[in-house]
Amino acid sequence: MNESVLDKTIKAWQFLYTQGFIEGFGHISVRSEIPHQFLISRHSLGLKVSAEDFVIMDFKGKKLHGVGDAPGEFPIHLEVLAARPDVNCVIHYHGMYSTAFTTTTGQSLKPIHLMGTLFHAGIPTYPDPKLVSDRTRGAALAKALGQARAVLMCAHGATITGSSVEEAVAGAFLFEENAHRACLSATLGQPVWLADDVAQQAGLELIASRGPFRRVWSMVEELDAQIKSQTP
Ligand SMILES: [Zn+2]
Repeated sequence: MNESVLDKTIKAWQFLYTQGFIEGFGHISVRSEIPHQFLISRHSLGLKVSAEDFVIMDFKGKKLHGVGDAPGEFPIHLEVLAARPDVNCVIHYHGMYSTAFTTTTGQSLKPIHLMGTLFHAGIPTYPDPKLVSDRTRGAALAKALGQARAVLMCAHGATITGSSVEEAVAGAFLFEENAHRACLSATLGQPVWLADDVAQQAGLELIASRGPFRRVWSMVEELDAQIKSQTP
């Protein structure tokens, strides 16, 4: 694996862990420069991570390198990466706020804040709450995702994609932030979702600017610098 990509993946893991997204349940994968292979955070990974905490798997689901086991839900990553050549990084986590929209009637998660317009193209929901522990389920999830940037998983979590580590980690952060804002709005009254055409215009502009991806990545770098400064 390209060292800078591995370094970015470690930083992304630390950030998502510190944000409380992936502690206990959650994983990140990155497509390898070697065809039909990917790198994935190992099972039961804590905050402190190093290169040895990531395992390399192939698209047949075989572990090729690394210490420890792949997470049980690695088929999420395998099938999404196989189905979407434009995706190079996949994050799965059990989002507290986003998942609430799969366990509520009457409200579907949509952009409610400017940064949520990254998801203007739609947020599909995968209906099966069971663990995505085999390739059949992984393929069904990838099918539900379609060409979207993210898919909600009913009573379970979310899977976020990106063309790079930076894009995926910003996507996860802003996806959950948008859901959090929507939950707050729902506690005050009826949420006022952005109109589809307004969300589309704003989202396309944001994506073209790359601004949100750069901004969130600077937070990732800042955290990494803090962690390094505290490590003797
Ligand atoms: Zn899960």
